[in-house]
Amino acid sequence: MQDCIFCRIGRGEVPSLMLHRDERCFVIRDIHPLAPTHLLIIPHLHLTGLNGLGAHGEQLFGHLMAVAGEMAGRERVAATGYRLVVNQGPDSGQAVTHAHIHLMGGKRLPELG
Ligand code: 5GP
Ligand code: ZN
Repeated sequence: MQDCIFCRIGRGEVPSLMLHRDERCFVIRDIHPLAPTHLLIIPHLHLTGLNGLGAHGEQLFGHLMAVAGEMAGRERVAATGYRLVVNQGPDSGQAVTHAHIHLMGGKRLPELG
């Protein structure tokens, strides 16, 4: 999408350090980190989120999860632990309507409930 920030980063129009890039996704550090490691795993494909994902989206998210696991190892949080988050829709506070997975770790994270 023309004006989507994550599409623009993926196309290289907004310079960003890419920690990983392959034909299906890329990984950057969150600009406002909530933990010492706070990465965003982002598909090149502009899906708005999880709703109506379909078979292709299911495969794609499987790949994103695998990349998240690899990145956790590279960031040295695999053993200490980390959290993966997908914000979906207004009640979640989703700010960027281009699907992505947050990977947070490197400290004891606040409990969810
Ligand atoms: P969500 O949509 O899941 O609420 O979160 C979007 C995340 O993207 C936020 O944590 C925000 O800090 C991050 N973000 C928004 N714009 C940029 C950007 O231009 N560069 C980077 N690296 N992160 C961004
Ligand atoms: Zn997009």
